[in-house]
Amino acid sequence: MTADDCLFCKLYRDGNHVNQADGFVAIRDINPQADTHLLVIPQRHIETFREVREFPPDEARRMLDFVAETARAAGLEDYKVVVNVGPEAGQTVFHLHWHILGGRSRELA
Ligand code: 5GP
Ligand code: ZN
Repeated sequence: MTADDCLFCKLYRDGNHVNQADGFVAIRDINPQADTHLLVIPQRHIETFREVREFPPDEARRMLDFVAETARAAGLEDYKVVVNVGPEAGQTVFHLHWHILGGRSRELA
């Protein structure tokens, strides 16, 4: 999928953001797997975490800070940060994103 028809490029532009910073937004997952389930979406379109080296170092650092800041702003102290890399690992949207999961998680069968 290219950036032109990418769902997360669209949600970056138009979504209902719970947090935003230069180059990054956070949204609520449409199908939450935990009490709090947020998605951090970078503006830069890369398909998977495998290509994370395409981020300039300062942008990669700011992305990590934004993940932690978004969790803090959501009132989370303890939480999981998850990145699914490739379809076999459960990735369904091919624009890099970070899951933040806080509170009780839904049991996955
Ligand atoms: P992945 O499975 O690729 O790691 O994560 C994709 C996530 O995007 C899933 O948790 C799915 O529920 C969420 N998702 C898919 N479509 C939409 C949407 O249109 N809006 C929002 N907010 N989340 C979505
Ligand atoms: Zn995209």
